[in-house]
Amino acid sequence: MSCIFCRIIGGEIPAQVVARDEVTLAFLDVSPLADGHVLVVPHSHVARLDDLEPGEADALFRTVVRLSGPVRDALGADGSTIGVNNGDATGQTVPHVHVHIVPRWHADGAGSIHSIFPPGAKRGVAEVGDAIRAALEVR
Ligand code: 5GP
Ligand code: ZN
Repeated sequence: MSCIFCRIIGGEIPAQVVARDEVTLAFLDVSPLADGHVLVVPHSHVARLDDLEPGEADALFRTVVRLSGPVRDALGADGSTIGVNNGDATGQTVPHVHVHIVPRWHADGAGSIHSIFPPGAKRGVAEVGDAIRAALEVR
């Protein structure tokens, strides 16, 4: 298996594992954006959140929620930014679902998730709401 996260899950390459259960693994990012930057992954190799089975999705976010307080406490952080690059258009570099938990401090110089986007919604929210509700109905 060539996926780097599958190899970590399989124990083929080392990582600083901080939590493990039957469905998920959490380990430190090798190039942390801040001290305590954790990645939480499902054992199964899928690229996007929406490729997960519902039970895997539940387990993934249970692990994220379970870790968020202890990661903050361990680092003496004031909060955390929790995010997913979901698909290669977003800058996702490893095509195996992973949730980033990045500890944050007041005045740490990093922005909110809003800061990664240029201004620029082009369509009205009512029209977009209709489109999403229609997409949900056809699934
Ligand atoms: P992405 O850009 O796909 O959302 O994030 C991938 C993350 O995986 C990056 O933050 C990167 O530093 C991390 N990463 C890539 N290769 C390895 C590795 O071999 N070990 C660990 N622990 N993290 C990795
Ligand atoms: Zn994988």
